[in-house]
Amino acid sequence: MNRILIFVEQAENRRLLAEWLGRYYEVVVGESAVQAGKAVPLLDEPFDLCILDGAALHHLREWVQARKQAEQPVFLPVLLITLRADVKLLTRHLWKTVDELIGNPIEKLELQARVEMLLRSRRLSLQLQAALEQERELKELKTRFVSMVSHEFRNPLNIISGFAQLLEQRDLPPDRRADFFLRIRKAVQAMTALLDDVLAFGKVEASVFAASPVPLAIAPFCRKLIEEIKVSMGTDHTVEFACETECALACINEAMLRQVLTNLLSNAIKYSAPQTTVRLKLQCDAETAVLQVQDEGIGISPADQARLFESFFRASNVGTIPGTGLGLAIVKQVIEKSGGAIAVTSAVDVGTTFTVTLPLNREA
Ligand code: ADP
Repeated sequence: MNRILIFVEQAENRRLLAEWLGRYYEVVVGESAVQAGKAVPLLDEPFDLCILDGAALHHLREWVQARKQAEQPVFLPVLLITLRADVKLLTRHLWKTVDELIGNPIEKLELQARVEMLLRSRRLSLQLQAALEQERELKELKTRFVSMVSHEFRNPLNIISGFAQLLEQRDLPPDRRADFFLRIRKAVQAMTALLDDVLAFGKVEASVFAASPVPLAIAPFCRKLIEEIKVSMGTDHTVEFACETECALACINEAMLRQVLTNLLSNAIKYSAPQTTVRLKLQCDAETAVLQVQDEGIGISPADQARLFESFFRASNVGTIPGTGLGLAIVKQVIEKSGGAIAVTSAVDVGTTFTVTLPLNREA
């Protein structure tokens, strides 16, 4: 609700304004006091429109100008109540402070029309500012994205090119040859993972994950996905799956669930030592599925946990473990688009648990 601040010294006008405008807007009747030789309002809350009469403006002009200045480039309208005869006394200087006039005695309909128009301009100005801000954030994200992607690609490309050259040597012992091939394969894997993240990032933007949920047997889906991830990562971790109920045929967006679980499970494996255990726990009730991915890995410090879901953020303890810092940002976005939530608990060198809550639509 729009908030209107009124500084009107004339009591009858003050009463009328509060009564007429109070039905449609939040009205705050301001009082001012003199502090250090300057008049300032006693209550300095944010507002969308200020209505003053000539006497109040006389005292508060500096404060009004400062408030308008502070809100720039957003428009903060000021409406002045003045006698028609006094309009010609308004100086150019005053026009910088005042955006609109209303004659005294005040006409109710005229007042409402002027207030509505000023508030509309304020709203448009706020919308414009929000759009500009969004555009600025998007630009910044794109710049970071391009520089990160080019940097992350250059590294494995250099490795591939370097070891490919070494492999051209004829008299290379077989074990060295095998080692070089392994390094090339790892670099290709890193590039593929990066490409997958970049593509998933694009899909979030294109709302691919907003597709309607379809019936899915979640527990068998999880078991299959675990097998796929273990094979593709070639890991010797133990990945356990536990589910109290089978969550048979709940409706969920399969692409979204795959994206979320693949990310969380591969992170759990990536950030924990070989031969440790990763656990996926599934619990369903009539309306929600709760999925927990737990590992015994490097953990995340409390300070890093606070920034975990920001694009490109990587915790300080990742060392040489490869990554882009995009996965969790994507996961959070797709979960929230589906009306779900994600939370994390973690202790450094002990382990991490991600808990995902997703709404199920059993009737769809
Ligand atoms: P990345 O590609 O770097 O793994 P993510 O967005 O998936 O990007 O994760 C962001 C950061 O969160 C990681 O770089 C890592 O620091 C931290 N992280 C995520 N999952 C775990 C985990 N299971 N254990 C420890 N740290 C994790």
